[in-house]
Amino acid sequence: MTAGMKVLDGHMHLLTAETAREARDWLPPMSLAVAAASRRRQERYESEQAIASADPPEESVEAAARRWLTEFDRHGVTAGVFLALGPKPGMLRRFVSQHPDRFFAFTFVNPWEAGAENVLDEDIRYRGFRGLKLYPSIQGFHAHDERAYPVYDRAETLGIPVLFHFGVTLDYRSDLRYSNPLDLHPVARDFPGLPLIVAHAGAGFFREALFLAYHAANVFVDTSGSGTWMRYLPRPLSRREVLERLLDVFGPDRIVYGSDSRHASEGYRHWLLREHREILETLRVPEEDQRKILGGNMARLLRIPW
Ligand SMILES: [Zn+2]
Repeated sequence: MTAGMKVLDGHMHLLTAETAREARDWLPPMSLAVAAASRRRQERYESEQAIASADPPEESVEAAARRWLTEFDRHGVTAGVFLALGPKPGMLRRFVSQHPDRFFAFTFVNPWEAGAENVLDEDIRYRGFRGLKLYPSIQGFHAHDERAYPVYDRAETLGIPVLFHFGVTLDYRSDLRYSNPLDLHPVARDFPGLPLIVAHAGAGFFREALFLAYHAANVFVDTSGSGTWMRYLPRPLSRREVLERLLDVFGPDRIVYGSDSRHASEGYRHWLLREHREILETLRVPEEDQRKILGGNMARLLRIPW
């Protein structure tokens, strides 16, 4: 039934050699020992996930745009939201300007830096970005840190959503102490008009993500990723169980479908879209609600017609 339904993927990345360089530039360099440990972990992830090496290829903006458009058309995806990997995402900005009706981008700022709210303002007003991505465990700040409040305040004024990666993550430099979605509770409380998206349903902090739904109406979840985190729970969950709980607790208006597709050699993670569609059918989710989850909710947050 959902085969002809429009899809707006709410969580993707543009991973090329250039965006990887841009994302590394602002992080402090790793020592040799840490870099080696990071590589070993990456290799373990690649073998577990049975994916090709994650070293992204050199690719021009035009070539990347052509490739993603072909992938979208092949798999019935109307549009996608591409999340920046670090501040000043220059290549991503040029990429989405190729097809502004099908590619949308979220920018990235370091919220504790003086004037970060003005950088965000300019990215939204003049550089074509439609939202903000923050990554507390890599950036090393708690989401509730009041130094970030000017950024939240400006995002609320601009009417854009802010997406957070909490929970487990591939990046070796991450610090799980900043990864708990409960950090978002005071932010959700103090900025009731600001849509906050918890990526990957908390990537392991599933219970905490569900608590947020109880406390605040402006918290959303995305379903993206391969779901590695589901194994690392005291009782492993299946994607179906996760979606079932999300539907019960967040309801169909606050769930955003995402695939976390990112990589040239991997292409679009079409199997995740198929799995989502099958589960939504099995759970007998009404067609209208399926349409919201597969794109309508993100379109509402982006304020685009759907
Ligand atoms: Zn992601």
